[in-house]
Parts: sequence; C-alpha cells; structure tokens
Amino acid sequence: MTANATRVLVLNSGSSSVKYQLLDMRDGSRLAAGLVERIGEETSRLAHTPLATGGDKREREARIADHEEALKAVADELSADGLGLDSPELAAIGHRVVHGGLKFTEPTVIDDAVLQEIERLVPVAPLHNPANITGIRTAQALRPDLPQVAVFDTAFHTTMPEHAARYAIDVETADAHRIRRYGFHGTSHAYVSRKTAELLGKAPEDVNVIVLHLGNGASASAVAGGRCVDTSMGLTPLEGLVMGTRSGDIDPAVVFHLKRVAGMDADEIDVLLNKKSGLIGLCGDNDMREIRRRIDEGDQRAALAFDIYIHRLKKYIGAYSAVLGRVDAVAFTAGVGENAAPVREAAVKGLEELGLAVDADLNSVRSDEARLISPEYARVAVAVVPTDEELEIANQTYALVSN
Ligand code: AMP
Repeated sequence: MTANATRVLVLNSGSSSVKYQLLDMRDGSRLAAGLVERIGEETSRLAHTPLATGGDKREREARIADHEEALKAVADELSADGLGLDSPELAAIGHRVVHGGLKFTEPTVIDDAVLQEIERLVPVAPLHNPANITGIRTAQALRPDLPQVAVFDTAFHTTMPEHAARYAIDVETADAHRIRRYGFHGTSHAYVSRKTAELLGKAPEDVNVIVLHLGNGASASAVAGGRCVDTSMGLTPLEGLVMGTRSGDIDPAVVFHLKRVAGMDADEIDVLLNKKSGLIGLCGDNDMREIRRRIDEGDQRAALAFDIYIHRLKKYIGAYSAVLGRVDAVAFTAGVGENAAPVREAAVKGLEELGLAVDADLNSVRSDEARLISPEYARVAVAVVPTDEELEIANQTYALVSN
C-alpha cells in the first residue's frame, strides 16, 4: 500500500442491489456514495452522488445484467469524478458480509480460504452470503492487487456466552446443523455502543449499554463493557423484535400449525414470516411515518400494530436490564430509532422503576448528532445515536490494511 493510499471503498452487495460509499480515511469524510438497484431486471437504476465535488446526484435507468456490470458502472461513475478504482489512493475495498459464523470474530483480509469459509456458511445465510460472495469476486476481478476485507455482521456477537447463544434443543442436532444464535447488525451495535460510551464521557469497558437498532430490520443487544452478551436476532434475522416485515419472536409451533392446518410449505411460511409479517402484516404499512399518520387519524389497526411493536420492545429492554444487572444507557438508532420520537417515548414509558425516563423537549429535537434525551435525574441515560455502518466498515478495513 502506498503512503498516500487513504481511501476505502465500502461495498454492501445484496441479491439485486449494490450500495457503496467511497471514504477518505484521513478524516472519515465521504467522497462519493450511491446505489445500484434492480440488478438483472428489465430496468435497473443507478444513483450516484459525487459528494467530494458537491455535484448533483446523477441517476440513470438501464438494464444492468449482473453484479459485474453493476460494479463496472460504479467504477465508471467514480472515474467521472476523478475517483476511479484504478487510483493509487485507493487503499482497500471493505465488504459487508452478513454471516461469518463462529469463525470470523474480526474483520478479515479475504483470500481463497476465507472465501471458501464464507461459502460454507451459505446454508445458514442463503439470502445474504451468496450476494456478498458475488460482490467480493467481482471486486477482486476489477482490482486483483488490492486488499479486500470482509467485515461481518455477526462478528460483534461472537462474544455472547454459550448460555445466551444456544437454543435449548438437542445438542447433537444443533451442532450437526450449526443451529445457534448468531445475531446480526453487529457493525451497528458495535459502533453505537462505542459512541454511546463516548457520549457519556466514559471508556467502552466501563459502561453497560442496551442498543436498540430499529430500522426496517430491528434488533436489540446487551453490551457489557464493550462486549456483546446477548442479542435478539438468532440463527437468522427473523428472531426478536417486531420488524417492518418480519414477525420476530413467535411460538415455533406456529410453523407446524401453518404446515399441518393451513397446508403451507416451508417456502410459503418463510415468505409469510419474513416478508408479510411484522408491521406490514399487522396493519398493511411498514413505514413508521405512515403508521403514526394513520394513528393520528384514529386508525385502530395502525394503533394496535404500534402497541404490539412497543410491547415487544419493552420486553427486551426489561430482559436486557436483567441480563446486564446494571444499565448505564439505552441507545436508540437506525431509521425508526433515530427519527421516531413517539416510539422512543412509548418504549420507555412505565419503565421508571428501571431508572428510565425521557425528557419530552429533548426527545422532540431533530438532529443528526448523537445526543441524550433523558432528564438529568434519570439513573439510566437514554440516547439517540445515529448509526454509521459504512464508516465503521471503512474504519475496520483501513485499520487492518494500514498496519
Ligand atoms: P433503516 O432500515 O434503518 O433504513 O430504517 C428504515 C425505516 O425507518 C423506515 O421503514 C421507516 O419506518 C423509518 N423511518 C425513517 N424515517 C422516519 C421518520 N422521519 N419518522 C419515523 N420513522 C422513520
């Protein structure tokens, strides 16, 4: 790596999309960001924002057949801004990889053995890891000389003790099929728990934090002294909180019931629980803004969906208070957590005995900054901490390659 190689390209490859950001690691600033959507469909869409030059967002619609074409299109956009992938200033490419199993506890420079291991995990992450692998291979073909780093969504959760990570099912069956709780959104939980400690003016080792990552996907984690000790997502991202389209926790017997009584097969049940449940299943909307608007108009279905969402959230706050023993802060993050003041207010209401309270004025402030929203007297700090998974991936990638 040359001394002036200070840029990192972050790639988040989904099955039909690629999100990207190019960052300058001297100050963490963003030079460019964009998204390729609907890869492989009739009309794909590329939206690119050249942040370094302050230029306007450029959008184009045309068929982009596969990830290779998508990445080439991204490379062309970057080149047009003088930020091409061939630049000696590019230090590495950081890839978000959803499932790292138990093996990958840290960001890892990708070689053939690492790729094979990510491939071996496809059975436990059939929707995500194949897309991540495609993204990696394509980026490798474009810049074979450049270090490519995998940053795993599961890594932060590998510190969970066995009693939190294991399901109470037959051990031989569980081990034979690698069935256990892995947790996801780890990059966000790591970043937000660290930022929360910073906000309190303390070292991460000295604080216990409950992180509530509430986006379209949602998960909670209990972080003791900077280490994750429990998290709400499990073998897959389906477990835990009520989400935009996922059910979160249900009695597993619901699955047998749907099969035996409703005659649904495994794929249909998978779609029902992952795509047609949660808020959208309960009231037909998964956007919290729309749900709040409907509640304001007196819509009962939207109100019930909101109450179910909040009830589950409170149960996890209570459970993780018990898991941690002492809680210093509860941090709200992601689309809903950062923006929906009514969700924050409702989630904490009635939990005064646990030391939790929200100041109505502070809670109503809109800001991109990390901030406290609890009154001074509260025993537990309540914080809003905007997450930044791309910056965290870039930081971890750069730390690894610049050593
Ligand atoms: P994420 O997955 O973190 O991008 O979060 C996306 C979700 O955040 C959306 O589906 C909305 O439910 C929610 N969201 C975004 N902006 C707002 C807002 N201003 N108020 C309430 N909810 C919001």
